[in-house]
Amino acid sequence: MSIDETEIIGVEELSDPKLRFEEFLKTFQDRVTGKFKYRERIRRMIITGMKSLVIDFEDLYMYDSDLARTLINQPDTMLAALSEAIRSLAEIEDPEYVKTIDKFYPRIKGLPNVVRIRDIRSDHIGKLIMIEGILVRATPIREKVVKAVFRHMHPECGQEFMWPPKGEMGEVIEYPLFCPLCGKSGGSFKLVPEKSKFIDWQKIVIQERPEEIPSGQIPRSIEAVVTADLVDKARPGDRVSLTGVLRIKQTGKKKASIGIFDIYLDVNYIEASQRLLEEVEITKEDEEKIKELAKDPWIHKRIIASIAPTIYGHWDIKEAIALLLFGGVPKQAEDGTRIRGDIHVLLIGDPGTAKSQLLQYAARIAPRGIYTSGKGATAAGLTAAVVRDKSTGEWYLEAGALVLADGGMAAIDEIDKMREEDRSAIHEAMEQQTVSIAKAGIVARLNARSSILAAGNPKFGRYMKDRSLAENINLPATILSRFDLIFVLKDEPDSKIDYLMAEHILRVHKEIELVKPDIPASLLRKYISYARRYVRPKLTDEAIKLLQEFFVEMRKMSEAQESSRRETPVAITPRQLEALVRLAEAHAKMALREYVTIEDAEEAIRLMKAFLESVGIDVESGKIDIDIIMTGKPRSQQEKLSIIVDIIENETLETDYGCVYMKKIAEKAREYNISEDFVERALRILRREGTIYEPKPHCYAVVK
Ligand code: ADP
Ligand code: ZN
Ligand code: MG
Repeated sequence: MSIDETEIIGVEELSDPKLRFEEFLKTFQDRVTGKFKYRERIRRMIITGMKSLVIDFEDLYMYDSDLARTLINQPDTMLAALSEAIRSLAEIEDPEYVKTIDKFYPRIKGLPNVVRIRDIRSDHIGKLIMIEGILVRATPIREKVVKAVFRHMHPECGQEFMWPPKGEMGEVIEYPLFCPLCGKSGGSFKLVPEKSKFIDWQKIVIQERPEEIPSGQIPRSIEAVVTADLVDKARPGDRVSLTGVLRIKQTGKKKASIGIFDIYLDVNYIEASQRLLEEVEITKEDEEKIKELAKDPWIHKRIIASIAPTIYGHWDIKEAIALLLFGGVPKQAEDGTRIRGDIHVLLIGDPGTAKSQLLQYAARIAPRGIYTSGKGATAAGLTAAVVRDKSTGEWYLEAGALVLADGGMAAIDEIDKMREEDRSAIHEAMEQQTVSIAKAGIVARLNARSSILAAGNPKFGRYMKDRSLAENINLPATILSRFDLIFVLKDEPDSKIDYLMAEHILRVHKEIELVKPDIPASLLRKYISYARRYVRPKLTDEAIKLLQEFFVEMRKMSEAQESSRRETPVAITPRQLEALVRLAEAHAKMALREYVTIEDAEEAIRLMKAFLESVGIDVESGKIDIDIIMTGKPRSQQEKLSIIVDIIENETLETDYGCVYMKKIAEKAREYNISEDFVERALRILRREGTIYEPKPHCYAVVK
């Protein structure tokens, strides 16, 4: 159904709309069930103690198209008439209930045309329109006066009166200019709150959905006001569909006769869309194609080859991205504990190794994918923030990238440059997949159930092979350990690979259409949505056994290491075991399989090993120690380092020049069985960390 624009414009005043609405509510019958739909809804409204009634626009349009069109064009008078019509019908059902209600709210759902936020124009002012987008900001709920009682503070009057005399208060409170009772304008007017009427009020901001934004453009947004039962119906991060009357914002200053006005949507109905994934439409034909594809024994290879086909090589990374796009299976325990199914992958690499390209590609193919930079495109950054609107001074809760990507995936480029606030909040976002915030009176917990594909640049410009992962990137170990897989991309000249890569890149440049993906991007996106929506693979006993053996084996290796070297390294942790399960589940999902087989488990293990090798761990020799990978310091080393710091601290007190010479430190360290070699290295590490400094050559002091 679609309404022609020319039809809408120029509709005459309708006679007695209230009666026509009453007719509609009374006699409209559902086509399928034959039931009197709105009589029933009114009955339910009364029983549940509500005062708003949802009306499907389509019903009204089918019943009385003139009435429906006038509703769009003159929403204010028509909604008032409809509200009265609801009252009349409710009165028949329950006159006592009706007496307790000041006003019934008709809620109009589902207009035929959705206006894109960037297409909103002056023609829409005063009209009922429907928009869709993401709720990005919301103020706390406030109370707005709709019917005020004022007391005239003039010494000769002191009387109270209702204001405004007719109708309700608009966006701005208009103070009375003179007293309607005594006629004088002198003396002030004071609001009497206990006698005035208020409704819940909240301002929100709706932004275009990422998939609607033309590439290279900044997202547009519009302010909206929700009142009464509509407040808090949706939260920042929610995808919403809403109808409302487009209004211009009055500044409150009567003299603003000429000027530029801001617009906002006075919301009539709001609905948070049934979140996860349903935006990707899958037809019956698509479903057949998807099932056919899944039968191919080479399906895994075909999907991986279809990821960023213009990028040469990086097979394991592309596989990791594919697994991330499909995701594992989230688990919810009875007590509410939740284990995430989302897979997080981090790429650390030299400049120009196609990291950004891979991320952008993944964000395009992922259902509900977002590409952002660690620095954050908005004030809310990666998680969320309470921000103050510059022009109005109002506080808002604003959703960041991970909340906006809820149910999908967030590609975060240059994650090493993220803001301090995000650095602490991202831990919760990665593991519990929520973002909690409490500031300026706003307390909220938002969902951030998204997988993260992040990329970072090495701290020293290039990845240093002889240094640990943690030393190479400006991210704390606590964040690193939350990634399921981490890969290092090194830009090392290798004439054989370089030749092939050059050939590939040049071919891409010559004829871009030649590097079509095996599975077209649109079909792959549908395939992924389908798998995420319908496939929940279960672990088989064989797969469990294999994962268990691998885990125990890896733990044992570090045990053996411990007894031989008298050190206490931390082996791979249960975190990695959970990661293996997710990867194996995702691998099964890629073939739309209901069970996680031994092959899926093997592939998960292969990738985990590829990750460990990529970050410089020799898996076969058994020198595996997550602590070294993450912090660059095995536990014992950590202990030795703190002994050295203590030595410097204590010895500095013994001198009068404020530092301790290297020779002295080494001498003292020998008492603890720490070699001079180690001391030299330790001093370098501690200086780089900023724990100590060198006020004079070879003389060290602890930074206070
Ligand atoms: P990074 O984000 O890692 O610094 P970019 O994604 O910006 O790198 O890549 C730089 C350029 O080099 C891009 O145009 C990319 O297509 C190209 N490039 C780098 N590595 C490859 C590769 N393996 N295959 C094809 N193109 C590549
Ligand atoms: Zn008066
Ligand atoms: Mg880059």
